[in-house]
Amino acid sequence: MHHDPLHILKTIFGYEQFRGHQRAVIDHVVAGGDAMVLMPTGGGKSLCYQIPALCRDGIAIVVSPLIALMQNQVEMLRQLGVKAAGLHSGMSFSEIVETGRSMRAGELDMLYVAPERLMQPAFLDQLHHCRLALFAIDEAHCVSQWGHDFRPEYLQLAALAERFPGVPRLALTATADQPTRLEILERLCLGKGAQFIAGFDRPNIRYRVSLKNAPKKQLLHFIRTEHSRNSGIVYCLSRAKVEETASWLREQGIEALAYHAGLDRHVRHANQDKFLREDGLVMVATIAFGMGIDKPDIRFVAHLDLPRSLEAYYQETGRAGRDGLPSDAWMVYGLQDAAKIRQMIEASDASESKKAVERQKVSALLGYCETTCCRRQVLLEYFGDTASPCNNCDTCLQPVDTFDGLEAAQQALSAIYRTGQRFGVAYIVDILRGEENDRIRAMGHQHLSTFGIGRSRSVNEWKSILRQLIAMGHAIAASDQNGALILGHDVLPVLRGEARVSFRRDPAEQRSSTGKRVLIETPAEQILFDALRTRRLELARAQGVPPYVIFHDTTLLEMARRKPIHLDSLSKVPGVGCGKLGRYGQDFLDVIIRVSELDTGP
Ligand code: ADP
Ligand code: ZN
Repeated sequence: MHHDPLHILKTIFGYEQFRGHQRAVIDHVVAGGDAMVLMPTGGGKSLCYQIPALCRDGIAIVVSPLIALMQNQVEMLRQLGVKAAGLHSGMSFSEIVETGRSMRAGELDMLYVAPERLMQPAFLDQLHHCRLALFAIDEAHCVSQWGHDFRPEYLQLAALAERFPGVPRLALTATADQPTRLEILERLCLGKGAQFIAGFDRPNIRYRVSLKNAPKKQLLHFIRTEHSRNSGIVYCLSRAKVEETASWLREQGIEALAYHAGLDRHVRHANQDKFLREDGLVMVATIAFGMGIDKPDIRFVAHLDLPRSLEAYYQETGRAGRDGLPSDAWMVYGLQDAAKIRQMIEASDASESKKAVERQKVSALLGYCETTCCRRQVLLEYFGDTASPCNNCDTCLQPVDTFDGLEAAQQALSAIYRTGQRFGVAYIVDILRGEENDRIRAMGHQHLSTFGIGRSRSVNEWKSILRQLIAMGHAIAASDQNGALILGHDVLPVLRGEARVSFRRDPAEQRSSTGKRVLIETPAEQILFDALRTRRLELARAQGVPPYVIFHDTTLLEMARRKPIHLDSLSKVPGVGCGKLGRYGQDFLDVIIRVSELDTGP
């Protein structure tokens, strides 16, 4: 057996080079060191422990929090010809017994196991009789009590350090800010280990936020023009909206499934399974869907409602494009969304200090929505990273104008104030524009000094200004009256003219020229790519596995470009290792030969 990492990368995984920190991590762990690895989703964390597992003698124990993730990884490894198994509550008793036997007999390279099972005394005793290559602790941020994925079982993993002192331990995660990092190091006793920290950018994801006017239609247009036949996730806030959106999309001819916590467990499970196993389905879901979704070819993540925070947004959008191919994070957002999210904080009975933290988080989120700078810069800076303008987000591709808005802000705020902080957006706009209607006359508001002060701006301009004032926190939609606007906490500097206020000039209409990014150069390639995908789906169905465990889209695309017609040249395509070449090589060559003949035929 070869113990050279690069050789293993090439022959088993079918890749030519290591990426980023992979090589450094692997060398460190192969030499017996502990480590913490932070890489963005899709960065290639799995290889950081899978290759050392194959280089070192004995079995590698991989701790994973979710059965779905485990099964997925085990299936991928088996397809590559690696001896991997999982041990979890979804297995029958006899399967568990058999896996335990092959573990003790030294027949396995890798065992995926849930933390609570690993830490059972009987299981730990068994491990003492095995030769151990390493421990890999995946999703290591689950030890953090402050994060949203906290799993108490993860805390027990600290004991591994004492019980197995000579065995390298490797903690991996994609989500860890500075406090969480420290927590991981401390709670997993990795203090002396090396740290490998990669930047958090996801360059293949294009970020886009559009103004909400007809959200479902906007979504449909987006899917039809840019993502027909692609897999994607659409996030909505409520169960009702999930159901409604999914069935509406189906009526429009888009294959859409629903997922939320209120669905029958079996239906929910079946929908998730279908999404993972089929190509080109749209999953409409609440945030109950996502954790542990490891599908590499999700081409878009769409938000019809605001996420809870920028952290949540980054995690949710991060599910797109794990395979590195161009993908979209798309969101629609409007005045109501800004008003609602601010209102929720003010109406909650949390302590004032907690509210202050929440307000900051919401300001960051709304600031992202309203920004006129590069969205990627806003995101990365929020996470303590830096970046230059990316040229792969809507504000980079279609720069947004700004205007000095102090006077307009003062006019709007004073209209809110002088009408007694009792009226909603439509009324305030009428006051500003001097629309003398019955309601205004009944209140006598046509005599106010602010009446008609903003005639020069259109209704939409004023709505945009009010939306941005709400996003900035200068105006708040009060929770007790129907959408009435009241003044925010820090408006005095604005009213006194001491603050700078800059507004974005909303683009009149979202031009679609942010452009569809082409994966494929020619129609002939597209035909071949589609045929390869069809063949892959047949092979996957026959085995009851997701298509991407056979080959990723990246690999099929490269086949469509290179059109290899011999096994030898096929083996050079990234993602085609020895195991898969033997197993599927001829199948895919047949497709290439058949389709290319059609292509060049008379
Ligand atoms: P993560 O767990 O960090 O989200 P994965 O380990 O699932 O990422 O890897 C993401 C994708 O990148 C997978 O499709 C994987 O096969 C691919 N990949 C990882 N390392 C390499 C490499 N060195 N060369 C080419 N592709 C790679
Ligand atoms: Zn940008």
